[in-house]
Amino acid sequence: MNFVFLASKFTPYSLNNRTSMKNIVRVLGILALLLVVPVEATGIKKYRVKRIVIDAGHGGHDSGTSGKVSKEKDVTLRMALELGATIKKHMKGVEVIYTRKKDEFVTLHGRAKIANNNNADLFISIHCNGILKRKQQAYGTETYTMGLPNSKHNLEVAKRENEVILMEDNYEDNYGGFDPKSPESHILFAMYQNSYNDYSLRLAQNIEHQFKNRVGRRSRGVKQSGFLVLWKTTAPSVLVEVGFITHPEEEKYLNSQAGQSYIVSGIFRAIRDYKEALEGS
Ligand SMILES: [Zn+2]
Repeated sequence: MNFVFLASKFTPYSLNNRTSMKNIVRVLGILALLLVVPVEATGIKKYRVKRIVIDAGHGGHDSGTSGKVSKEKDVTLRMALELGATIKKHMKGVEVIYTRKKDEFVTLHGRAKIANNNNADLFISIHCNGILKRKQQAYGTETYTMGLPNSKHNLEVAKRENEVILMEDNYEDNYGGFDPKSPESHILFAMYQNSYNDYSLRLAQNIEHQFKNRVGRRSRGVKQSGFLVLWKTTAPSVLVEVGFITHPEEEKYLNSQAGQSYIVSGIFRAIRDYKEALEGS
C-alpha cells in the first residue's frame, strides 16, 4: 500500500515539472553539504597512525588460560613481539610500543596507561580464548570492541579476561568498585562508549576479514563486551582472541611458527588497510 501511494506521487507531470526537479536538486545539494560540512567545519586534524601499542595479554604470575601444552601468556607474548617486528619492518615512520616485552605481570589499568602516556593511535590487545572442558570443540577467532555483550559467551570471555584484576593490589580502588565476579557489573560497565568506537570497529572488522579470507581461519566474528583493558585507552582499541588454546588442534596451530606468522600477518594487513583507508594513501 505504501509503495502504491509513493509511486502515485511521481506522476509524469511532477517528474516533468521543472520546479519539482529544482527542489529535488536543492534537497540533494543540502544533503551532500550535511555529509561534508561537519568534517571540515569542526577542523579535526587528519587522523594518522603513528604510534601503535601492542599488548601481550597476561604475564608473570598471571598465566591466562592454559591448554594441554602451553600457556596463554607465552603464546600472546610471542605473537605480540612478532607483530611489533613486522610493523617496524614494513611500516616506516610508525612507532611500536609494547606493554610488556618479557614474562612479567602488568596490571590492566597499567596497560591502558602505557597507551595513553605514549599518545597511542591504536591499541591492540592479544589473547587466546579458552572454554570449559565439555565445550572443548570450540575453535576460531574473535575480535572484540567495547560494547554490550550480545551473547552469554561474549560476556563469559570478558569475565574471564577481567578476573585477572583479582591478582592486582588495590583493584577495588583502581577500577571504581568494579566486581569482576558479577555479571551485572559487566553489563553496566560494557555500556561505556567512547568516541573511538567507530574506529575500533573498523579495525576489528579488518582483522576478522583477514583471518577469514586470507589466513583461512574460522572467524567467529566481531563482537562486543566490556573489557577493563580497553576501558580507559584514549585510542581506537581492540582485543583479539587469536584462537582457542583449549582446542587441542588449535593449540598446536597457535604454538607453531607457521601458525603464529599467519596470524601476525593477518593482523598486520588489517592494520595496514585501516591506516591506508584513514590516511587516504
Ligand atoms: Zn586473555
